Order: sequence, then C-alpha cells, then structure tokens
Amino acid sequence: MREIISLEPVFKEMVWGGKKLQEYFQYEIPGDHTGEAWVVSAHPQGDCRIEEGSFSGHTLSWLWDNHRELFGNLEGKEFPLLVKFIDAKTDLSIQVHPDDAYAGAHENGARGKTECWYILDCEENSDIIVGHHAKTKEEMKRMIDEGRWEDFLRVEPIHPGDFFQIPPGTVHAIRKGTLLIEIQQNSAITYRLYDYGRLSGGKPRQLHIRQALDVVLCPFEKGEALPKVYREEEYDRTFLVACQFYTVEKYDIRGTLLLRQDQPFLVVSVIAGEGMVDGRPVKAGCCLILPSGYGKARIEGQLSIITAHV
Ligand code: ZN
Repeated sequence: MREIISLEPVFKEMVWGGKKLQEYFQYEIPGDHTGEAWVVSAHPQGDCRIEEGSFSGHTLSWLWDNHRELFGNLEGKEFPLLVKFIDAKTDLSIQVHPDDAYAGAHENGARGKTECWYILDCEENSDIIVGHHAKTKEEMKRMIDEGRWEDFLRVEPIHPGDFFQIPPGTVHAIRKGTLLIEIQQNSAITYRLYDYGRLSGGKPRQLHIRQALDVVLCPFEKGEALPKVYREEEYDRTFLVACQFYTVEKYDIRGTLLLRQDQPFLVVSVIAGEGMVDGRPVKAGCCLILPSGYGKARIEGQLSIITAHV
C-alpha cells in the first residue's frame, strides 16, 4: 500500500489575521496576526514540506515533479489545488479573481482562480460579501468612482456550516470574526477593488480597478449551492460542490468510515474532532493526501473531515 502524505502547514502573517488558528488547531503560529495556514500547497509562495516517511523533508512541489505516479500521472506543470485555513480577525479587502483565460492572457500564462469556503466558526451576526448589486458595468463603474460601496456590495449573513462557491468574476470578501477552510485552484492572482481606505506600512495597498472591471461578471447571479446530505449509520456525507477544478465533500464521522480513494489523489482535511486514519492519530488541523491507488482508508473516531479531489 502507498504511504499517506502528511504535510507541514505554511503560515502567513496578515494585517487582518488573528490567533484563532492556534486556539482552534493548536498550531504553533508565528505571531498575533496569523491570517492563513496553507495546509496543502505546492505554490512557490508557500510550498508545504512533507512531515515524515520516505519523502520526509521534501516539498509537495518536489513530490509532484518527481513522483507523478502518486498523483495518478496527472498532467500539468503545477499541483492543481491549494487548501488553506483562514482566520479573519478583521475584514479582508474586497476582491475578485480572473478565470484561466484572462489570467493566461494578462498574467504571464498564470492560472485563474475558482475557490470555495466552508465556514468553520464565526462570531454572532457575522457576514460575508459575495456578489454585487450593479446591473451593468457602467453602473458598477459609477458606484465605484463615487465610493458607494454599501450600495454596490452584496452582503450575506453567515453561520458555521455554510458553504460558498466563488467562481471567477465574483466580487467577494471574508469579513471579521470568520474562521474557514478554503479550497481553491492553485493560483494567487487577486484583483483588489477596495481596502476600506486602510494603510499597510503607512501606505494604502495597491488596487487593481481596471482589471477588476474587466473580470467582474455583471449582473451578479447567485449560484445554487445546495449541499446534499446522505445519512449513514456511522457517518453523514455532505456533498458540497463539484466543478471543473475540484469536488469537495464533508464527512461527519461517529464510528467508522471506509473511505474509497479511487481518484488521482485525495486531500483529507480534519476540521473538527479527532480519530485515526488507518491507525494514524489525527485531530482538527491535520491535513493528509491519500495518493493514487491507495485503496480504502479506514477513518475512525468522532471527527469531521473535508475531502477534495480534482
Ligand atoms: Zn479570493
């Protein structure tokens, strides 16, 4: 049987970050403003190291380049997914991502970004920005020029367990008091529309209004994200999303789950509780990759996991 690949997170200090990643997952975070833990990443800005086993000390990008058989011999220059835990102590800037076509043409052949969020925890009366209220690009431009952000932005209340799919061209922002897991295409191309006039190191952060106007879809259309739950005796399976770039599901386990791994690879992120994966102890915050050909994984305990594959 092939080895499970376990990875060390890469932490990112952010002006808007906090300490919840430590409180929630007992991570050893680098400071009081830790915004992100990149838990499954081969991105050059945060390439995770393999914790143990035959490939211990190598990075995920190295493994992708040198042992493609572990990923079902998928094609592609880069490992396709990026998984992060995000702690927003204050609001993130309002942003939008391009699709593959726009990023390819305007960002040196880079990839666009589709992402999704599963809310792990949030303060009472928290909300999130997904979409906007402008009917046309002209109206959108006017609202932005005039700084009418409250009219422009579409705000939605959130609760733990909510799920959002964010296709390219969707105006979005995570807001204060939110802890979530994000699964996305492996890309860092972001166009910032608005940063609440904040300063970072004495200066406002760069905005990218022209590119954002190019890529924002207008009018906004809310996708139908209706998670489907399948109840079994020892676990519930919740189907969250399947799109061109990833399929994401959640399992709430109270006993034993035999998880079939017949994908090129399967990312397993423990979001709550603790248990065992084929005899290996895991707890909230542990992220593993089950390689190609792994077969069935026996997951036992009282825990919730999010799985992702391409
Ligand atoms: Zn984003």
